[in-house]
Amino acid sequence: MKSRRDFLLKIGGSALTLPLVSALTPAQAAVLPETSPVADKQLRVVLVGLGSYAERVATAMKDCKIAKLVGGVTGTPEKVGKWSDKFGLDKANFYDYKDFEKIKDNPNIDAVYITLPNSMHHEYTLRAAKMGKHVICEKPMSVSVKQAQEMIAACKKANVKLYIGYRLHFEPYTRELIRMRESGELGKIMHVNTYDGFKSGNPNQWRLKKALAGGGALMDVGIYCINGARYATGEEPIWVSAEEAKTDPVKFKEVDETVTWQMGFPSGVIASCSTTYNFNNFERLYVIGEKGFVELGPAFGYGPIKGRTHKGEMSWDTTKMHQTWQMDGMADCILNGKPEPNISGEEGLKDMKVIEAIYKSIAAGGKKVPV
Ligand code: NAD
Repeated sequence: MKSRRDFLLKIGGSALTLPLVSALTPAQAAVLPETSPVADKQLRVVLVGLGSYAERVATAMKDCKIAKLVGGVTGTPEKVGKWSDKFGLDKANFYDYKDFEKIKDNPNIDAVYITLPNSMHHEYTLRAAKMGKHVICEKPMSVSVKQAQEMIAACKKANVKLYIGYRLHFEPYTRELIRMRESGELGKIMHVNTYDGFKSGNPNQWRLKKALAGGGALMDVGIYCINGARYATGEEPIWVSAEEAKTDPVKFKEVDETVTWQMGFPSGVIASCSTTYNFNNFERLYVIGEKGFVELGPAFGYGPIKGRTHKGEMSWDTTKMHQTWQMDGMADCILNGKPEPNISGEEGLKDMKVIEAIYKSIAAGGKKVPV
C-alpha cells in the first residue's frame, strides 16, 4: 500500500507546504518555500523594534527553514535577556538604536526587519541600506510617497533588497485568489468589494498619534484593502474618491477613524472599500468576475483565513503562521533567486500613492483625485 508520504512526494511538493485539498499550484510553487530540511544557507535576520508584531514574527520564525532570527535592536536593555532566552538568540546579536550602525561589522547578520512605528521606517531603512544589509520593512512602508521613494533609491544605491512585510503574498488563500484571477478562471474582473478594520483600544497608543503613525485606520489596515484590490484586479488604480466619518473626534483627533473610498481602475472596474478603527468584525475581500468569484473573509488578519469561490468552500493549509511562510519565502527570493511576489519597495510605494490620493480626496470633500 502506498504511504501518504509517497503520495505527497509523487504529486511533487514538500508535504508541509501542501494545501489540504488542492495540489500545489504553479503560482504557489513559485513562491512557497521548500520546508525541509533546514537550508544550507539561511537568511540571518535581526528585528528592529521588539514590540508586539516583532514578537509574533519571532514566534513564527521558530518554524522557518530558510530564514533565521538571530537577534534584535531595542531601546529596552531588559528585553535582551528576555528575548535571547525565549527565542534562543545570541546576546552578541543585540543592539541599541544608538549602536545600530555596528550591525555593519557583524558578518552573522544579513538583513534587518523593521517593526518600528510607521514614521521610523524611513530612517531605519536608510541607515540599514547604508550598512549594506537587506531590508524588510513593515507596512505602511513610510508615512509619505516622498519617503517611500527615498527608501527605494537608498536600497537600490546600496544594492540591497527592500521588501515590505506584505505577508499575505505568501499565504495560500491569497495566493490561490491571485492564481485564479491570473489564470482567467474568474473571467473579466467586474468588481471588488473590500473592507478591513477593528476597534482600537488604548487612546494613548502611537497608532493614534500622527507624528508616529502618519495616519489612522487607512494607513494601518486600510492598506490591506488597497493592496487587496490591486492583487484582485491585477491593475493599478487611476483615481480615488473618499470620505471620512469621525464619530469620536476626541480619540481620533489626529488620525482618521473610518474611511470609505472608491478606487477606479483602467479597465473601468471600481473597487468599493472601507476601513475603520472604531468597530470589529469588519474584514473581507470579494472579487467578482464574469465567470466566477472569490470571497475571502477573514481576508487580512493572522487567520485562519477562510474563503469560498464559485466552485465551493476553499480549504488550504492554515497550520503555519503567515510570518513563517513570509520569512521563508522572502529568504528564498533573496538567497535562491525565487520569483518575488509583489512585495518590493515599489509595490509599497504604489500603496502609498493611493493613500496620499485618498487623504487628498477627503480634504477636498470627496472629490475624485487622480492617483
Ligand atoms: P508596538 O507598539 O507593539 O511595537 C513598536 C516597537 O517600537 C516597540 O518595541 C517600541 O518600544 C518601539 N519603539 C521605538 N521607538 C518608539 C517610539 N518613539 N514610539 C513608540 N514605540 C517605539 O507596535 P506593533 O504593533 O508591533 O507595530 C509595529 C509595526 O509593525 C508598525 O509599522 C505596524 O504597522 C506593523 N504591523 C504589521 C502587522 C502585519 O500584519 N504585517 C501587524 C501589526 C503591526
